[in-house]
Amino acid sequence: MIHMKKWMSFIVLFALCACLYKPVIHVSSSQPLLKKVIVLDPGHGGLDNGASVAGVNEDELNLKISFALKEELESRGATVYLTRTDDQDMTKRDYNYSKQDDMYLRALQIDEYQPDLFLSIHLNSSSSSAWGSQVFYYHKSEEGKRLAEIIHNQMKTLTGTRKNVSSCSFYILRATQSLGVLIECGFISNANERGQLKSQAYHKKLAVVISDGVEEYFQSLSAPL
Ligand SMILES: [Zn+2]
Repeated sequence: MIHMKKWMSFIVLFALCACLYKPVIHVSSSQPLLKKVIVLDPGHGGLDNGASVAGVNEDELNLKISFALKEELESRGATVYLTRTDDQDMTKRDYNYSKQDDMYLRALQIDEYQPDLFLSIHLNSSSSSAWGSQVFYYHKSEEGKRLAEIIHNQMKTLTGTRKNVSSCSFYILRATQSLGVLIECGFISNANERGQLKSQAYHKKLAVVISDGVEEYFQSLSAPL
């Protein structure tokens, strides 16, 4: 009987120690985007280069920025899909480019993934003096506006943009069921920004601030009112 008591005490002590030394795993802090599905849509591709200035094509940089963003979002736990992963538009034709066909297929593919949100990645072009990132949302989407403002504010810490978020009726935002925004990361028509936008280090920086925005958006949904 005495032996039994000692044995029981040993078990209790052992269980207590096991509890005390149990490693604490902070899943939520290291993987804040766990279970979130995000689609990235690198604009243009294939025969459609998008904006093209001084030998720099928008579609190529959109893809590179999207790859950097995919890596960053995945490191935070998200499941990420891209509408395209190489230099082809959605029709995958190397002849007879049709914007209408491309955009139709793009919107369908985004919704097929049933994402928590999607981001369409683009670069702007205008006069050489124009500069700054800008985030667009569908004018009838209140949630899109909120998402745009959060991402815009995070991007501003990097790009220093003086632009504001803007409402629009771009097809990719209008035709999709999913929540999404379109991000113009900067102007390739501006020599300074073009230099930055060509750099892999800058792609990584963009990826971080955009991901910070995405993370803040999801946190705002779960925060108590
Ligand atoms: Zn574009």
